[in-house]
Amino acid sequence: MSIKDGLAVLVNVQARELELKFIDSEIADVEQERAVARSEIEAAEGELDAIRVALEDVRSVAKRLDIDLKSAEEKVTKFNDQMLTVRTNQELWAIQEEIGHAERAVSVVETKILEQLEHEDSLKVSIGQKSNELAHVRESVDVAIAKANNREAELISVKAKVDDALSNLQERIPEDLMKKYGDIKMVRGGLGVAEILDEICLVCNFKMRPQLYADTFNFTDIMQCENCGRIVYVAERLGIVSAADSAQDDIAASNSDQPVDSEPAAAGDITS
Ligand SMILES: [Zn+2]
Repeated sequence: MSIKDGLAVLVNVQARELELKFIDSEIADVEQERAVARSEIEAAEGELDAIRVALEDVRSVAKRLDIDLKSAEEKVTKFNDQMLTVRTNQELWAIQEEIGHAERAVSVVETKILEQLEHEDSLKVSIGQKSNELAHVRESVDVAIAKANNREAELISVKAKVDDALSNLQERIPEDLMKKYGDIKMVRGGLGVAEILDEICLVCNFKMRPQLYADTFNFTDIMQCENCGRIVYVAERLGIVSAADSAQDDIAASNSDQPVDSEPAAAGDITS
């Protein structure tokens, strides 16, 4: 394999690897979206559960109040029965006072029961509202999750294709070049290949010696940046668009009078 072909495949390998990384981050985003959607349901369910618990509390308080009411009413009945056996005025006053106490106790419990009933009603209304809300949340979350699942399936199928393309490329690269690339990549945070433009490494911005640039330009050998050690290439010599140009595409489109291609003469050197 010629130096030029080796570099071209290597650049392709790096592009596919970056693509895979991007796809993986997209898949992670999809997972995150799904988790957020699920947590919306959990939050809505949590609110509903809290109200249901409050309703149970209210009902158990209501049961206790019923018992209290019964015993208060029994006291009133008991004192009323005692009235029949009263013999003196003193006994009458005493029993009337007891009846008064008992009746007030009944009234207090009745008021509490009414309050509890109102509370119970408002909780039931809340449960109805929250149940509706939960149903809506479930609907929208189902849609969001279905969307996320579709997106994930798409990404996985694209990833499989890129994976295949990458393996094919990797097989074509000579073993020693692949190893060199792998070592640099490992040390240099994922990027093993760097473009040089106008003698400058576009990854580390180091300006290299003219001779090294010339050797890279002429495919004398596999050359490496003197600063970052990455395998370097000149984009136009590989017949690919420079990263600097593709980054400036938007600017170039709005300033079409600005020349984008640097040296038209070099175009003749590019063989397909
Ligand atoms: Zn560099």
